[in-house]
Amino acid sequence: MKKILIMMAILSTSWMIQAQNMTKTKVEHVMAPLPYAYDALEKAIDKETMEIHYDRHYRGYYNNFLKAIAGSDLENMTMEEIFANISKYPDGTRNNAGGYFNHAMYWTVMSPDGGGKPTGELAAAIDKSFGSFDEFKKNFSKAGTTQFGSGWAWLSVDADGRLFVSSTANQNNPLMNDCEQKGTPILCMDVWEHAYYLRYQNKRGSYIDNFWTVVNWDEVATRFTAAK
Ligand code: MN
Repeated sequence: MKKILIMMAILSTSWMIQAQNMTKTKVEHVMAPLPYAYDALEKAIDKETMEIHYDRHYRGYYNNFLKAIAGSDLENMTMEEIFANISKYPDGTRNNAGGYFNHAMYWTVMSPDGGGKPTGELAAAIDKSFGSFDEFKKNFSKAGTTQFGSGWAWLSVDADGRLFVSSTANQNNPLMNDCEQKGTPILCMDVWEHAYYLRYQNKRGSYIDNFWTVVNWDEVATRFTAAK
């Protein structure tokens, strides 16, 4: 009896996978809502920067991403599937898919109640990979300050479940198949000038110092658990 039930489960699962492939449905994309007010992160990022960044830059990436995939197979692909094949697509798709995805993550890994240090399993994993939280912070900050031109700093989980820090140019991210260090990102920091220039001008390092006061470690821990 048990065997028959298992067989039925396998057959129905494979039928569902086939049915999904035959009638691929469009993946729905939405602009991630900003989870706090524009002025909520004032201790690190001013209201005007947040408003322009969210409402103009992010909205632009979102709209241009939808335009870039309109009428193509990419409409049926998840962001992870698109990034896993990104080298096949034109730069416009790469830049806007990255801009859409990276910013959605950036809004959530910051919070007005953020700052401090991670706890639990994430804290232990950081200690294991970097020696200490301070050493990790140094690495991540350095990835942000030394990224030449526009880009992002990342904390990601690699295929073996280990944490690593990296940076990417433009709107690239560690999920892209042609990224130097591939992994699942759990923390990101935007180091494009549009993320900090109004308050900090050319002092990217000061923006990065203050970024730590708003990091939402609960969100990073949730992403870490999901990525492992
Ligand atoms: Mn940005």
